[in-house]
This record gives sequence, C-alpha cells and structure tokens, in this order.
Amino acid sequence: MTTSFRIRALDPAYLEAIRTKGSDDFGNAVTTVANEDAGGTPLRCCLREAGLGEKVALIAHQPAQIGGPYMELGPVWIHADHCEGYRTPDAYPEGFRHRQLLFRAYDAQGRQVGNQIAEGAVAEAVIDELFSMPEVASLHARNVLAGCYMFSVERAS
Ligand SMILES: [Zn+2]
Repeated sequence: MTTSFRIRALDPAYLEAIRTKGSDDFGNAVTTVANEDAGGTPLRCCLREAGLGEKVALIAHQPAQIGGPYMELGPVWIHADHCEGYRTPDAYPEGFRHRQLLFRAYDAQGRQVGNQIAEGAVAEAVIDELFSMPEVASLHARNVLAGCYMFSVERAS
C-alpha cells in the first residue's frame, strides 16, 4: 500500500549527538532512568511506548525548524541508548495506533492553519483530510492531554 504521507520521527543522528554530548540543544543534562510507566512513555526515536525498565531519557526538543512565533520547545522521551529510529516512514506508527492524537497543520511558513483530533484507528483518513488543504505543508502529531510533540507528518514527494 502506498501512502500519501511520510512519518518523520526524531533523526537518529541528531539524537546520537545529544547522547554523546550528554546534554540536549538547550543545555539540559541527559539523565537516564528506567521506565516505570508502561504505556505512558512514548518514545520519539522509534515511535512506540517504552516497556517497564527500558532505559529512557527526557530531553527538550524544538519540532518547528523554521522558527517564528509558532516555534515551540517541549519535552520528549527518547531511548537513552542508541536507537535505529523509525524504520517504516511510509506507514502510520502501530506503536501509537491505540492513542488519540491531536494533529496540528502548518503551512510552508510554519504558521498553524488547522487542528484535528483523531483516534489512531482513523489517523490516515484525518492525515489525508488535512493534506487535502493545499496550504498545509506538514503536520505535527501531539499528545492530546499533555500537548507534547509526538512526530511529524510530511507529504509524500
Ligand atoms: Zn527508540
């Protein structure tokens, strides 16, 4: 099946540099903890939830690379050790399928131009609907309650 979109998780090289340096791009130390919250620790490196005892770290991440007034900085969980990243960018992350997510739509200038909450079961339909608006360049999936950034969705080239 060919999808009309590409899922973009955090770049493995970007995360490896942060692990090596021992701090994120905003000066916060990378502190490794053993996950204690099964189902409550969504990993933004490989787009699944951490299991009990998995070594994870919380870093600050700025998902909008363009900057401008919609630029936001927020916390994201990552694997504390090397992670290969998300390997199936043409498929919606099954590790988050059970979650309801907020999809924020941005135009090419990084301005927010739409929002929609979607159940994981129908996420692809909501993504297609948002991309049916020609001004939408990319989407950010966010945690509905905490508001935290989960992953990006781009149009398939
Ligand atoms: Zn990972």
